[in-house]
Amino acid sequence: MADSPAIARRPRPSRGEGQWALGYREPLTANEQIKKDDNPLNVRARIENVYAHRGFDYIDKADLRGRFRWWGLYTQRKPGIDGGKTATLEPEELEDSYFMLRVRIDGGQLNVEQLRTIAGISTEFGRDTADLTDRQNVQLHWIRVEDMPEIWRRLEAVGLHTQEACGDCPRIILGSPVAGIAASEIIDGTEVIREIESRYIGDPELSNLPRKFKTAVSGNPDHDTVPQINDIAFVGVEHPEHGPGWDLWVGGGLSTNPMLAQRLGVWLSSEEAPEVWAGVARVFRDYGYRRLRTRARIKFLIADWGVEKFRQVLEDEYLGRRLTDGPAPALPETPGDHVGVHPQKDGKFYLGVAPAVGRVSGAVLGQVADIAERYGTDRIRTTAHQKLVVLDIDETDIEPAVADLAAVGLEARPSAWRRNTMACTGIEFCKLAIIETKQRGADLITEMEKRVPELDTPITVNVNGCPNSCARIQVADIGLKGMLVMDASGEQVEGFQVHLGGALGLEAGFGRKLRAHKVTGEDLPDYVEKLTRGYLTDRTEGESFAR
Ligand code: SF4
Repeated sequence: MADSPAIARRPRPSRGEGQWALGYREPLTANEQIKKDDNPLNVRARIENVYAHRGFDYIDKADLRGRFRWWGLYTQRKPGIDGGKTATLEPEELEDSYFMLRVRIDGGQLNVEQLRTIAGISTEFGRDTADLTDRQNVQLHWIRVEDMPEIWRRLEAVGLHTQEACGDCPRIILGSPVAGIAASEIIDGTEVIREIESRYIGDPELSNLPRKFKTAVSGNPDHDTVPQINDIAFVGVEHPEHGPGWDLWVGGGLSTNPMLAQRLGVWLSSEEAPEVWAGVARVFRDYGYRRLRTRARIKFLIADWGVEKFRQVLEDEYLGRRLTDGPAPALPETPGDHVGVHPQKDGKFYLGVAPAVGRVSGAVLGQVADIAERYGTDRIRTTAHQKLVVLDIDETDIEPAVADLAAVGLEARPSAWRRNTMACTGIEFCKLAIIETKQRGADLITEMEKRVPELDTPITVNVNGCPNSCARIQVADIGLKGMLVMDASGEQVEGFQVHLGGALGLEAGFGRKLRAHKVTGEDLPDYVEKLTRGYLTDRTEGESFAR
């Protein structure tokens, strides 16, 4: 029914979107309240001085389920809880008294001592667990709050930390694993990452953002930090007058309402990039939507404002100056993963190696540190594809080093299946998961290597344990979203909704969700084999799986 004219003329009170800059300061969600009550960074002192001594049961719930994340800590899922109960159980029924700990490795840059330290923490405190994430972190499990002071002491002694590794704050800064050494590099982003990290990570002024804020910095033309799906990305570009610098992209992200980042149309030098990064983070802090967490990423602000208005607000209200206009960088066909043996510009070689679905262990990481040392290198890198890269190998050492890495399960010449399959944490440890992912992903690789060994082109398979997109469902050739499905006998079992034909790079786009394409976990190898064989048989010259 339409409003009467009298009612229609009365202005509606606006609820706003929870934007601080427009005066909507009230805490609007439980998360906003937690952040308002106490800056989450302050929880570190309570962990060290109180909880580590009194134990798990003594932890305040707002700290446990809220502020702990700012120090890289999430409670992990209690073992044995069925995925069908994920949405119905109370948090205390789902959560274990152990933690997942995310170690931040900005730029993916590690030395041997740092890698050995992470390995030691994993074996001593984390039951030998370690996963390489698709954001260049290492994730450990089975961590007890009692051990956190010692874990931080060890990490910080070698220049690593866990500050803002999770939470509504600036997360790890992705960087090219081959920054400074790749012959094709446009510009080295190492200093930009270092500056952003040292100036702004842990700054209380930027520790209460509407939600997470993901950064990527890479001057590699292969776009190895997947810039199109980051909240903010600095992409190397050559300016005809000013030379190598950075093209600034904003507003990428997956999960609900996936969006690709958009260019602001500016060119930045490395010197100005950190200040502009902080400007963008402040626009997000002040104008970002806090009323609903599902709309609290910067992509929604960019979608509503458009990039022209965003650039203007950034320049007028936060930087106080105009930015230089800049050209667009060329897009690669697909983002590079650096797997394989590649020459460096200094005459040495780097080896990119693939574990299965990012799963390693403390013992394996320790062995990688030993191998690196044996061949005289002190530089190891994590990648945005759940892989590792060992830098600075002499030409004569390539084959022995490749063999030593293969002996610990890290393949420099993996099958196309191993190279292009990723999996998120899944039900083994994640409280949001509906299904198991890591073992299923690893089994799928083994099975497909047997069934379709002749695969001669990359087909990306991304296995996710729930509708979130930690392993990037929407941008895979075959994106698998974990859910419960019906099997042939009408039983509810673990399975997937399939998204087909997603891609990043030149032909970036989100995979199509085909309602009919639901598959049980058990039938997954048959399904992937059928799809792959269909593509291999019917493809025309140069036709990729996605298009
Ligand atoms: Fe957990 Fe879901 Fe993310 Fe997988 S996609 S790690 S199940 S939240």
